[in-house]
Amino acid sequence: MCVPGCEEAVRHALTRRGFFRGAAAAGFAATAVAAEPAAAFAPRRFTSVVDLTHTMSPDFPTFFGVPGIELEKKFDLKKDGFNLNWWRIVEHAGTHMDAPIHFSEAGATVEQIPAASLVVPLAVIDVAAKAAQNADYLVSKADLAAWEKKHGRLPDNACVAMHSGWAKHAGDGAKFTGKDSAGTFHFPGFGADAAEWLMKERKVAGLASDTLSLDHGPSKDFKVHYMWLPSGRWGLENVANLDKVPASGAMLIVGIPKVKGATGGPTRLMALV
Ligand SMILES: [Zn+2]
Repeated sequence: MCVPGCEEAVRHALTRRGFFRGAAAAGFAATAVAAEPAAAFAPRRFTSVVDLTHTMSPDFPTFFGVPGIELEKKFDLKKDGFNLNWWRIVEHAGTHMDAPIHFSEAGATVEQIPAASLVVPLAVIDVAAKAAQNADYLVSKADLAAWEKKHGRLPDNACVAMHSGWAKHAGDGAKFTGKDSAGTFHFPGFGADAAEWLMKERKVAGLASDTLSLDHGPSKDFKVHYMWLPSGRWGLENVANLDKVPASGAMLIVGIPKVKGATGGPTRLMALV
C-alpha cells in the first residue's frame, strides 16, 4: 500500500540496475507465455521512445514474395462521408511476431500471450560487422558471451535481438532477401547452438531479428523456429532501428494485435530508452 505520491517516488528511485534485480528476485515462470507481471514489470523512467517498426506496405519484401498487405478503399470521405480501408494481411510480413503456435501443434496463439510477457528488457547483440562480411552469418554462443562480458548476465524475461545491419536494406528486396539464382535466401540469423544455450542457461522471453527470419537465409530445416517457438517463447522478425537503441537497458513493448487464433501478426515495436 502506498500513500498518494509514494508510488511516483518509488518509481523515480528505481535505477536500471535495481529494476533488473527486481526482475530476478520476482522469478521467471517456466515459459514466456506464463510470465508473471508482478514487480518485474514495475514502470521506470525513460527519456525517449525508439520505433523499432518498419512501415508496412505492399512493397515490403516478404518470405513468400507476395505483398504482405493489401489495402482496399471501401469507403471514401467525399462519397460516403468517411474513409475506411479493408486490409488483407499475411500474418508473417513486415515487422511481426511469431507466436508459439507458428511452429508447434499446441503452442499459444497470439491472444493467449499475456500482456506482461510483451513488455520486456531488450538486449541487442551487434553482429553487423561480421554480417557485412558474411550474409549467412549465424549469431553464436560466443556473441552472447561477448555481450554478457560487457553488460552482465542477460536479464530474465529479456528479448534477445540480433542487430545484423539488415534493416537498412529493407527498401531493396534483392539485397534484403539475398535471393540467389537457385532461389536460396542469404541473410543472417540465430545459430541453433546459441538458441539452445539461451533456452537452457538463461530465461529469455523472445528472440528478435532484423532479417526475414530467426533462422538464417539458407536454412531449409528452420531449426531455431522448431526449437524456440514450441518451448512457449515468441519471436520477432524484420525489426528496425536496432542501431538506435543501447545494447543493454532499454525496455521493449511488443504491440501485437490481439487476434483470436493468430499465429503471429504485424507488430508495433517500441523501445523505451
Ligand atoms: Zn514469422
